[in-house]
Amino acid sequence: MVIAGGGLAGAQTAARLRERGFAGRVTLVGAEPHPPYDRPPLSKDVLLGKGGPEPPALDVDFAALDVRLLLGTAATGLRVADRVLETDAGPLPYDHLVLATGAEAATLPGTAGLPGVHVLRTLDDARRLRPVLEARGSLVAVGAGWIGAEAATAARAAGCEVTVVEAAGGPLAGVLPAEVAEPMRAWYAGAGAVLRTGEAVTAVRAGEVELAGGAVLGADAVLVGVGSRPATGWLAGRGVELAADGSVRADARLRASAPGVYAAGDCASFPSARYGRRLLVHHWDNALSGPDTVAAGITGGITGAEDAPPYDPVPYFWSEQFGRYVQYAGYHAPGDALLWRGDPAAGEGWSVCWLGAGGALRAVLAVDRPRDLTQGRRLIKRGAALDAGRAADPAVPLKAA
Ligand code: FAD
Repeated sequence: MVIAGGGLAGAQTAARLRERGFAGRVTLVGAEPHPPYDRPPLSKDVLLGKGGPEPPALDVDFAALDVRLLLGTAATGLRVADRVLETDAGPLPYDHLVLATGAEAATLPGTAGLPGVHVLRTLDDARRLRPVLEARGSLVAVGAGWIGAEAATAARAAGCEVTVVEAAGGPLAGVLPAEVAEPMRAWYAGAGAVLRTGEAVTAVRAGEVELAGGAVLGADAVLVGVGSRPATGWLAGRGVELAADGSVRADARLRASAPGVYAAGDCASFPSARYGRRLLVHHWDNALSGPDTVAAGITGGITGAEDAPPYDPVPYFWSEQFGRYVQYAGYHAPGDALLWRGDPAAGEGWSVCWLGAGGALRAVLAVDRPRDLTQGRRLIKRGAALDAGRAADPAVPLKAA
């Protein structure tokens, strides 16, 4: 058993395989020099030098699981007919291979390696950025997405001067409808950060960012937070089908297109019957849960047990920004009706529900209302409809109609 990628999905695959009784040899190949660690703290406590151990620990004991870790080793290619994973430390034959190489930070052209220009994906990225916060330097973040918002939060907490530049009309564009994200605009000002929206960045140079209008913003550090893409470049033309977004095209049981090959986590997309479309999910919960389907498929194939049930989760993620706990579950489509619970202007928690045909709850966004998230997530899983009249009252728990 070979696992390519030493992040959460890779580590969970090893753990779930052992849990399901897989007794064969397991080798995990990870490009980073660090043993698998937890990534969400990187844009939160790790940037501030706070929190627990470093790297942030995953709850997996590889020695106890008898898993061989090949760290600082990158998978470089694949020979599917021979069942061999090529790595920069030599070839590794496999019976089963799990692709779990995750995602890498998207960059802007010409910015890679520029001094003072950062991305935030790995522990080493966070360690490079941390001294700027320690020195209370100034930060310009390009992109008001999840990473931009969380890094801005940490930098403000450290006392840095922070400007976030976003080409779209508001924060989290492309993730949330503009009217839902609009209340978040005030969070930046409230924390003392400057948010400039509708301003495209035309150039990033060491220590400065140039905007389309001609303005030049100088900073001790520039953080490019413009998204992430599957780390699958090494798989191009290697007999494993990739989707247009670069993800490994897995089936409903997370099998890739080559025999014996599976994929999980940020690098893999899968068909969702629940949402009637292929999903590529770049969130922690997906990397935690998908590996169990992979492990069930592998061990089931060996023992001749029935197929694992299809992997069709209700996607979930959280974000901690500007003192708020933001959670989202589900998947909303453009035509879904919006239902607000609570008034963002009132300064308390609020939620938004997305209702599909027949009032079915499809997604929920909760800001400092974790109960709405828990209740909503349960209803989404059941495909339950909401009584919109009742649900609009934030004092009433979310219940099926
Ligand atoms: P990864 O974590 O990307 O791990 C993949 C590993 O494979 C990496 O170590 C990589 O170096 C390695 N690799 C890549 N290519 C190769 C290769 N060719 N050979 C060998 N190894 C390779 N999600 C949330 O839901 N909530 C949050 O608050 C949140 N915060 C986040 C904050 C940050 C800063 C980041 C970067 C992500 C955050 N996420 C959050 C997303 C979450 O961390 C990811 O969805 C999760 O880490 C995905 O796990 P993965 O194992 O699929 O991929």
